[in-house]
Amino acid sequence: MEFDLIARIRARAPTRHDVVLGIGDDAALLQVPEGRQLVVAMDTLNSGVHFPEGTAPVDIGWKSLAVNLSDLAAMGARPAWCTLSLSLPEADAAWIDGFLDGFLALAKEFDVALVGGDTTRGPLSVCVTAHGLVEPARALRRDGARVGDDVWVTGTLGDAAAALALLQRGEAVADALRVRLDRPVPRVAAGQALAGIAHACIDVSDGLLADLGHVCAASGVGAAVQVDRLPASPALSDMGVDDALRRQWQASGGDDYELCFSAAAASRHRIAQAMSDLQVSVRRIGSIVVGDGVDVLQADGARWRPSRPGYRHFSD
Ligand code: ADP
Ligand code: MG
Repeated sequence: MEFDLIARIRARAPTRHDVVLGIGDDAALLQVPEGRQLVVAMDTLNSGVHFPEGTAPVDIGWKSLAVNLSDLAAMGARPAWCTLSLSLPEADAAWIDGFLDGFLALAKEFDVALVGGDTTRGPLSVCVTAHGLVEPARALRRDGARVGDDVWVTGTLGDAAAALALLQRGEAVADALRVRLDRPVPRVAAGQALAGIAHACIDVSDGLLADLGHVCAASGVGAAVQVDRLPASPALSDMGVDDALRRQWQASGGDDYELCFSAAAASRHRIAQAMSDLQVSVRRIGSIVVGDGVDVLQADGARWRPSRPGYRHFSD
């Protein structure tokens, strides 16, 4: 079964000038430019875990590459190549075609060549590796945050979590929220612009607090975040849920694929200018402090504690 599917993939796979040998041999041959480091990321998406069962193949295709490009973005890397491992319950040409529509739309947008992969029969699962390039010493790592840094986040938080919560209740989801869950747009240009400016960076996949916590642990510092400063989209603000639930989604929801980064206060103007040039919104949400872990504070200075939101928090 695999050969037909591989031929279908190969016929549509985009290539690049630096792909010496792509799909069709035992392995790909890629020309890494002189003076660049290779940045490699891998993420797996399992049905029912990383996307709801019944998600359209086109959305699975998009998201499987998007989450990997988001990891490259968080390193400040320029994407170049990817490989694709597909486990499918059956050889389904229509499924593959839909999947490729999403996957390749994103690959073309970011000039990423699909250079190989693996195709097997099994439970629905998609594993992608993405390969990018970065100048030596410019990669954005998790371990570079310094006490006194500002903590920033791009875009808005909580939309994907809100969409997922509504889906799980079987309720209608506004398109503006649903698209954040199904079609995250990796912050590739922002990541590259921040390379050489930010001290530490991570992409927000597991929830802001968890991911910022990883930065703190790797850097040996703490962070203080103002919960009122977490950016919300109009779609999220207009949902009419109570503040506690909205903040919960923004702080801990996950699947945002925004960049959370730290940088010197002296870089504020440069960061604002660079993000404005890219038309990416960015907000300062707190600072790096002595200590460990992430403290979340309310406007009155009291510590914010996430509630354990049940459905009762919906105001409908
Ligand atoms: P091998 O047995 O040598 O691993 P395969 O039959 O698995 O060969 O793969 C043949 C070629 O097709 C290889 O170049 C491989 O990288 C590519 N390939 C297989 N599956 C995929 C896929 N899902 N996406 C892209 N390329 C693939
Ligand atoms: Mg193989």
